[in-house]
Amino acid sequence: MTAAIDANAVRAALAAVPLPGGEGDLGPSGRLAEVAVRGATVTAGIRIEPAEAAAFEPVRQAAEAALAALPGVEKALVALTAERASGGQSAAPPPKPGAAAAAPRGPAALAEVAHVIAVASGKGGVGKSTTACNLALGLRGMGLRVGLLDADIYGPSAPRLFGLHGRPRVREGRMLEPMDGYGVKVMSIGFVVDEEAAMIWRGPMVQSAITQLLGEVAWGTLDVLVVDMPPGTGDAQLALAQGTRLSGAVIVSTPQDLALIDARRGIAMFAKVDVPILGLIENMGVFVCPTCGSAHPIFGSGGARAEAERLHVPFLGSVPLSLGLRESSDAGRPVAACEPESEVGQLYARMAASVWERLRAPAGG
Ligand code: ADP
Repeated sequence: MTAAIDANAVRAALAAVPLPGGEGDLGPSGRLAEVAVRGATVTAGIRIEPAEAAAFEPVRQAAEAALAALPGVEKALVALTAERASGGQSAAPPPKPGAAAAAPRGPAALAEVAHVIAVASGKGGVGKSTTACNLALGLRGMGLRVGLLDADIYGPSAPRLFGLHGRPRVREGRMLEPMDGYGVKVMSIGFVVDEEAAMIWRGPMVQSAITQLLGEVAWGTLDVLVVDMPPGTGDAQLALAQGTRLSGAVIVSTPQDLALIDARRGIAMFAKVDVPILGLIENMGVFVCPTCGSAHPIFGSGGARAEAERLHVPFLGSVPLSLGLRESSDAGRPVAACEPESEVGQLYARMAASVWERLRAPAGG
């Protein structure tokens, strides 16, 4: 029995949070942004200058505590958000080289997770989420304990891919229970954040929300946690790669040259934070005609393999552009779980096996 959340009470609770240095309260400061109530979850943003992040962390925590104390609120997620003057997505400042070498660290929720791996792409729409889902299931098929965190805030797709509905349960007033997707523990930013609100979030807010989410999920003991990264290689992605103790990253690319350029950026980004590349996966490699069965390399072929060789990163495989794969993905019946014997199902199993092999190999192996 959950009480409906009173939106006015939410605003009032946030407004009364004091700011540091006698700056008054949050309400009159004009710093409050994007307050949203979705079911028993409340999300909000606090606008800051990038340099104020440390000073405002206690405010963020106080705001979360104030929200959590309201009747009906099961989950409160407050993020610090810094807007850029230009507002342009591609105008991201270059990452600070010195910041990259920070010691690996991770939230306590990941204490029993042996390996966290990222599935990343230089741009959206290349099939990153489809790959992350099927790789996770491939690892699961090997008998491993696997989780998947869908951190793709601009288009969370794990609920659709795994055919999951509803909202995660909250344990001990704070920790979210992942949902079960064909034996994989699944958590999606789409379960807890209003999609329209998320779309307008700026980089730092995205990164703050994801880092919090990562730390507030009851993952339990896992062999591998697969993180479906937000597409692109901006500072939100870089910070995420730095803030989670990643064991490695898988890069997904289509054969088009442009996508490969983006993929190179992805590889460079992980190199900067000393995260090993577990491999490159080409997606939508050849088109297999569902009627005649013949293969057509519509976007060219062999580019990703050659590129992987050139960059000295392992090439994991090429997934065909397949109508069946799209249909089963959209229907929440992922190939790696529902058709493991199919060609594509076996391909994902092989790619998952090589990822696992590399994870277990000593560094540089
Ligand atoms: P991203 O995560 O990179 O944005 P998605 O995994 O969500 O991409 O895929 C985008 C769309 O392309 C989805 O509709 C998905 O079903 C489809 N898709 C992905 N990979 C393939 C493939 N190999 N063949 C056919 N459709 C695919």
